Amino acid sequence: MKQQYDYLIVGSGLFGAVFAHEATKRGKKCLVIDKRKHAGGNVYCNEIEGINVHAYGAHIFHTNDVEIWNYVNSFVEFNRYTNAPVADYKGELFNLPFNMNTFYQLWKVKTPAEAKEKIKSQIDQLKISEPANLEEQALSLVGKDIYEKLIKEYTEKQWGRPAKELPAFIIKRLPVRFTYDNNYFNDRYQGIPIGGYNKLTEGLLQDIEIRLNVDYFEKRDEWDEIAEYTVFTGHIDKFYNNRFGTLEYRSLRFEHELKDEENFQGNAVVNYTAAEVPYTRIIEHKHFEFGTQPKTVVTREYPEEWTLGKESYYPINDHKNNRIYKEYKVLADAETKVLFGGRLAEYKYYDMHQIIGSALKKVRDHFKDQ
Ligand SMILES: Cc1cc2nc3c(=O)[nH]c(=O)nc-3n(C[C@H](O)[C@H](O)[C@H](O)COP(=O)(O)OP(=O)(O)OC[C@H]3O[C@@H](n4cnc5c(N)ncnc54)[C@H](O)[C@@H]3O)c2cc1C
Repeated sequence: MKQQYDYLIVGSGLFGAVFAHEATKRGKKCLVIDKRKHAGGNVYCNEIEGINVHAYGAHIFHTNDVEIWNYVNSFVEFNRYTNAPVADYKGELFNLPFNMNTFYQLWKVKTPAEAKEKIKSQIDQLKISEPANLEEQALSLVGKDIYEKLIKEYTEKQWGRPAKELPAFIIKRLPVRFTYDNNYFNDRYQGIPIGGYNKLTEGLLQDIEIRLNVDYFEKRDEWDEIAEYTVFTGHIDKFYNNRFGTLEYRSLRFEHELKDEENFQGNAVVNYTAAEVPYTRIIEHKHFEFGTQPKTVVTREYPEEWTLGKESYYPINDHKNNRIYKEYKVLADAETKVLFGGRLAEYKYYDMHQIIGSALKKVRDHFKDQ
């Protein structure tokens, strides 16, 4: 097959879509392929009863970078959604992130000084100097009450292992805020695309040829000949036939339910922090866009073990997996006609604003412009 395109882009998630958009803008002919039946990767939304249902988990856009904020808003306007999750522990409700509202709900303390004193005395009692595992790390940062009601069982559900057996590095910081502020993010800009994330994907991929239900690995030889360059956003280990080993992930299962009522839980995100509830959170999608539809769609999120064939959600960046990734990275860096990017090719958890930033950087480096 003769080269018909300048760039073959494997994967239509945010990384692939931004790269395709920018390359097209620079006069290059691009073909995007995706093995899924839709474009957009993990930010894809399914429309049910006029509600945009986040098919691969709740996605809230946030950034401090005005350029990235303006970039996404040039494709679709974003609304003023502010993430303010609520935690349910055995029927008691708490505001997140940990702030003065949470401390009042836990201890009836009303002033920052009282809250600081409470947390400090709990931390001091434990006398943990060098945390040996996640449990000790969390206890040494926020004390017993917050840890036991809001962190321990939730984290154990997420990782499927006792907190004592999890490495301390999983929790680096646990922000505590001594103001009555339930805004989960500290970033300057935050919101959801008006009309849903598919509008962002459609904007990025406008007038670009895309073929869905196409797995690069099924006809790899043919795809390799179709374009001068390949931009690969799939699994890097699979790209190299898993020769150094398989990179591991944590997976999730989503149970979507259409409910014949207008408002099920009054908030987009409710975390279930007790072990007795098998899921970690319930998402009510309409609240991301202030929906007024007569029905509602809720999604229960269940963490799961990952096995080959399941969706790869969170990379397990422990020593073993990072070492394997490094070996692949050496090969990837030596490629001259293949560019790698995105969460699967870089084996790294990225938020959306970070993946857009990294795609724009890749474009600048590759095209040697500013
Ligand atoms: C549960 C969850 C919640 C999240 N919530 C947030 C949030 O609230 N805020 C935030 O900023 N970020 C969030 N993120 C992160 C966000 O999803 C990512 O930053 C973003 O989706 C990464 O884009 P990507 O292009 O790297 O990967 P993806 O979106 O995964 O795109 C990769 C694409 O490549 C395709 N592909 C892979 N292999 C092949 C192949 N062999 N052939 C053809 N196509 C292939 C896939 O089908 C996929 O469409 C969340 C992530 C998860 C897992």
